[in-house]
Amino acid sequence: MKKMFIDGAWCEAKSGRRLPIENPATQEPVDEMAYGDAADCRRAIEAAGRAFPAWKEKTAYQRGAILEKTADLMRERAEKIARTMTLEEGKPLRESLGEVRGSADWFEWFAEEGKRVYGTIIPPSVAGKRHLVVKHPVGVSAAITPWNFPVSLPARKISAALAAGCTLVARPASQTPLCLAEVFECLEEAGAPPGVANLVTGPASALADEFLGNRICRKISFTGSTEVGKELVRKSADQLKRLSLELGGHAPFIICPDVPPEFAARVAVASKFRNNAQTCIAASRFYVHHDVRREFTEAVVAQTRALKVGNGLEDVDVGPMFEAKALEKAVALLDDARAHGARVLCGGGPSRRFPRGYFFEPTVIDDVNRTMKIMTEEPFSPILPLAGYEEIDQAIEEANRTEYGLAAYVVTRDLPSAVRLWEGLEFGIIGINDFNPATAQCPFGGLKESGIGREGSHEGIEAYLETKYVSIALEM
Ligand code: NAP
Repeated sequence: MKKMFIDGAWCEAKSGRRLPIENPATQEPVDEMAYGDAADCRRAIEAAGRAFPAWKEKTAYQRGAILEKTADLMRERAEKIARTMTLEEGKPLRESLGEVRGSADWFEWFAEEGKRVYGTIIPPSVAGKRHLVVKHPVGVSAAITPWNFPVSLPARKISAALAAGCTLVARPASQTPLCLAEVFECLEEAGAPPGVANLVTGPASALADEFLGNRICRKISFTGSTEVGKELVRKSADQLKRLSLELGGHAPFIICPDVPPEFAARVAVASKFRNNAQTCIAASRFYVHHDVRREFTEAVVAQTRALKVGNGLEDVDVGPMFEAKALEKAVALLDDARAHGARVLCGGGPSRRFPRGYFFEPTVIDDVNRTMKIMTEEPFSPILPLAGYEEIDQAIEEANRTEYGLAAYVVTRDLPSAVRLWEGLEFGIIGINDFNPATAQCPFGGLKESGIGREGSHEGIEAYLETKYVSIALEM
């Protein structure tokens, strides 16, 4: 049984309610989590409000030391935290370990970046004046995050907020709070003062309304679906609450004719099936140049067939899908594609090899077109759809035909093609021969309806800072 962390204390919900957490590979209970409500959330916001003045007064070096120590503890406990993650989320242990270690990097990065929050001095146009621009922490911030990266997504927000001098209340996805609770144990042991970082659980909408309506909370950083992101934008109007939004995607993957199809297929399969395709930046639509279409298709089918599916605690490449609803969505997308003329080349539905759990066979489909939902709706499904193109401009046009603008991928070794593609693609993140571009020192975020703002890099800390302009007249 794990608890919420409010004002430096581990606590049950005031109501006493707990939520069972299920293992998607076995459908067995993993553990229970205290399940709070708006009143618990209010307590956490108030604690963060009380902690804020002292925390922002600390030097960036003092705050950084606590974040560095948190990173060290996360690395020491990476295997334990990763195991908890695999149990509650399903991804293969190897991927969970990578996520925990990568999340420690975010703490380390922002521990340092906090020391580089500079101001500016601007030359005056009137004699006897001085103009200064200084940065201040926004204040109490809230972090709402989904289940698919249950440590790294909150880690990006917690580390940047705390480094900037903000205090924070994290609200993880209902079904994956356990591994984040273990990260909070690291924060506590690293010396985060009471109230600086709080962990609350409870009904999503009620807690979001508390964050939105409570004037102590000055900012919400949300990662999740575009639909909920838009709802938060609408509801934030009353108090003009500061929002950062990391939302959905529908990443195109363009295969140029100059690369060996085996290599292109390796990048494609890795991009598609990481975390069982339940990744906001997962490649979703594959545009293959006609000259290499046959060879690429053969290679991608062979490599997809070779993926080992199973319980993430075993030596596998692909785990179960996260929940029954996710499995149902994959089935519906595949049925729709078939009904519109797609051909299944391998896989083709829920796996029958496992008595329990939400397993879906990694699937490749060909002859896809724009009438199919899989080509327009964010799929989050282990189905790799293949389409063709002849000219680069045609590939760019098809790739941009979406309201999403998070990530896009290109496989080429030809410099002019790479430049044309990255300049033409309307996406915030472009991976060229790189299926996993996310890293703490680079800006992560989307264009169009994929979000507002960036996480990571020096831009990531800006989300938690306000600009204050000071003008001084030396003589009156
Ligand atoms: P979701 O339904 O939007 O949920 C995300 C988080 O918001 C969860 O904690 C959820 O709580 C909570 N939530 C649900 N309804 C809410 C509401 N009305 N008001 C406030 N919070 C609410 O998203 P999901 O389907 O679980 O997650 C997958 C989505 O996240 C995909 O669209 C994916 O692309 C996106 N994502 C984006 C990024 C990025 O960096 N751009 C990264 C990862 C995922 P419950 O758990 O209780 O439902």
